[in-house]
Amino acid sequence: MARRAIGVDLGGTNIKAGAVAEDGALLSRVAIPTRGGDGHDAVVARIVRAAEMARAEARLPWSAVAAVGVGSPGAFEGADGVVHHSPNLKDMEGKPLLRTLRRAFGRPGLPVALENDANVAAYAESWVGVGRRCRHMVLFTLGTGIGGGLVLDGEIWRGAWGAAAELGHMNLFPDGIRCACGNRGCLEAYASAPALARRLRAAVAAGQPTVLAEAVRRRQAPDARDITLAARAGDRTCRALLTETGRYLGIAVMNVLSMLNVELVVFTGGLTAAGALLLDPIRREARRRTFALAFDRARILFSRMGNDAGVIGAAGWALHRQRALPRRRTP
Ligand SMILES: [Zn+2]
Repeated sequence: MARRAIGVDLGGTNIKAGAVAEDGALLSRVAIPTRGGDGHDAVVARIVRAAEMARAEARLPWSAVAAVGVGSPGAFEGADGVVHHSPNLKDMEGKPLLRTLRRAFGRPGLPVALENDANVAAYAESWVGVGRRCRHMVLFTLGTGIGGGLVLDGEIWRGAWGAAAELGHMNLFPDGIRCACGNRGCLEAYASAPALARRLRAAVAAGQPTVLAEAVRRRQAPDARDITLAARAGDRTCRALLTETGRYLGIAVMNVLSMLNVELVVFTGGLTAAGALLLDPIRREARRRTFALAFDRARILFSRMGNDAGVIGAAGWALHRQRALPRRRTP
């Protein structure tokens, strides 16, 4: 019988869940508010509820669910999945989330997998996205921050303590501007969505012409989306800002290609709406800087999975883990 899993994507605002078939097809889709302020126990209860709703909507009995996968911000250590560093869901930190989830589902024998959200999004790309059949790939998530996930040899690479793939904190400029992490000159401080908006303000202050100048002067806080739209409509200053962002990201691509020799680098997140205006400079800069052997056969692409990547990846990863488990053993 075809196997299905429930995938859950725990976000700072919403918990999304869906039933996913073995070929990656999404059979149901639900979303409920996270309400992280209600604390750890309430969030765990809502994760279970979202999974239950997704199962019911797909009309699957629990006996037809092979596994549950949960993608969450943060890093998780050990067999109990102790949460390290979860800035948006502070109350989860230090607690054995995976052990608690297994108990909360109350179904002994049901495999439950817990993994970092960017890691499962990377797994989704390698499973059914642009990285289909790729053994080695890297995903950059471009948003308020810059995160990432690594799939190496078909497996999520978490590193020794779950701290791998902090791609936003690779260094571009040793004495550069301050990053949210406390260091100076991180990629995130130059190529995230807020960084792009900050550079627009600097460009306007320097007198560069742009259709967004008036909005900046009136403190209407034009954001990365406004900049992308203006650039697509032909605004030269906004185009130059995207080109510059692409150069920074291209340097980061050079770093990961040089270190890991992956077949594919994928970008996802709001900034990818810029399309070729961002992708072309990324490719140009990476080509210019990377050894031919690491660059020539590598692909650099924008994701096409949209908002379901987290749910699909969490379910796919849970199925993958379940397949790897010896039969008849308690997970
Ligand atoms: Zn940083």
